[in-house]
Amino acid sequence: MIKKFMDENFLLKTETAQKLYHEHAKLMPIFDYHCHIDPKEIAENKQFENITQIWLYGDHYKWRAMRTNGVDERFCTGNATDREKFDKWAETVPYTLRNPLYHWTHLELKRFFGIDKIFSPATADEIWEECNAKLRTPEYSVRGIIKQANVHTICTTDDPIDSLEYHRIIKESGFETAVLPAWRPDKAMAVENEKVFNQYIDQLGDVAGIEINSFDQLMDALDKRHQFFHENGCRLSDHGIETAIADDYTKSEIDSLFRQVRGGTPLDEQKIRKFKSCMLYEFGIMDHKRGWTQQFHIGALRNNNSRLFKKLGADIGCDSIGDFEIARPLSKLLDRLDINNQLAKTVLYNLNPRDNELMGTMIGNFQDGSVPGKIQLGSGWWFLDQKDGMEKQMNALSNLGLLSRFVGMLTDSRSFLSYTRHEYFRRNLCNLLGNDVENGEIPNDLELLGKMVENICFNNAREYFKFD
Ligand SMILES: [Zn+2]
Repeated sequence: MIKKFMDENFLLKTETAQKLYHEHAKLMPIFDYHCHIDPKEIAENKQFENITQIWLYGDHYKWRAMRTNGVDERFCTGNATDREKFDKWAETVPYTLRNPLYHWTHLELKRFFGIDKIFSPATADEIWEECNAKLRTPEYSVRGIIKQANVHTICTTDDPIDSLEYHRIIKESGFETAVLPAWRPDKAMAVENEKVFNQYIDQLGDVAGIEINSFDQLMDALDKRHQFFHENGCRLSDHGIETAIADDYTKSEIDSLFRQVRGGTPLDEQKIRKFKSCMLYEFGIMDHKRGWTQQFHIGALRNNNSRLFKKLGADIGCDSIGDFEIARPLSKLLDRLDINNQLAKTVLYNLNPRDNELMGTMIGNFQDGSVPGKIQLGSGWWFLDQKDGMEKQMNALSNLGLLSRFVGMLTDSRSFLSYTRHEYFRRNLCNLLGNDVENGEIPNDLELLGKMVENICFNNAREYFKFD
């Protein structure tokens, strides 16, 4: 018998999987510990005027698919009207079959708007009207949507110079969902462009109230901001890097490199590597000192299309999977931190699926018995944030580590509608376990498995990150 498209047992092939999902996974709140939504929009409880604004603004996954489908840039990032953009997306969706966008799009329509129709130009009019009417109601304000999705905690992604004023406004407003900052100091080590770097360091100095002319002053300023983030509830950092860098250096070398770049002289490749090696180490020390978790998102080859980069900037859908050397420098960086017992809790995310097993074994090297799952293999990320990618990540983690200690899914998204990705993940998790049970590969113990599912969906993350 042909199954109905995306019914309540979507992706749940076995009866065990269905039970695990409906009686356990589905009931758990969402702990979204890494995303890119704008805290200002939560603070102001933004109300979107139409579905295009919440769906297509800033969503480079969709722009990429639209471009691939022959849609002009005007309808992706350009000045076409919201309705025109929506129509181009409606034209594109039927061509996204078997791409995760097809699933995400229909899950979002179903869960948030109660729309059970297949999205295409034929249904575009009614879907436009129905969504927009709902978006005008208080239940569909930003906070309304977060509440609908049963979100317990959100961690945004913030620069060390951010004032965190919106996080404070949200906290003071008594909003039930905790909205916490996360520390992303990528710009503080981006010495490859000395002009941009110096402007940034000037801003950092202003915010920290420290004139930054030496490396020690740079560290003082960053530490002050790190403490400020800590006082505002931050317990988590994040680094977007092509690969870990852990070259040898001395402190005096780094100080002279810093003075060189501050003086406006560019650094060569080798010196840039030295500087970044030192920064990654120092950031790790700071995170350990304050009991934080550090995240490394490793392996993206960014801004490949220089024509579009010049026109539109970063994060517009022209990034892809890189093939950098990962294992040796990552091992060296983690070891360098561990050697004096200063390795913070760490989550490693690989973008290249070939690195699943590499990372799966790397995390085992630095588990130290202090915290369950101290070093984590992060969930399938970006291009791997789909059925196949999630399954491969969970299989690698199962084979090489302890799936039961996994802190689970995050949206890593710029959109308030993407909480359905947690549902997508949970269904895949339950499906994997269900298959194993029905094949006799793991015991049919629904108490044990139900607990495991609840832990991976929520409890593990809450206990691991210790935000409370
Ligand atoms: Zn991210």
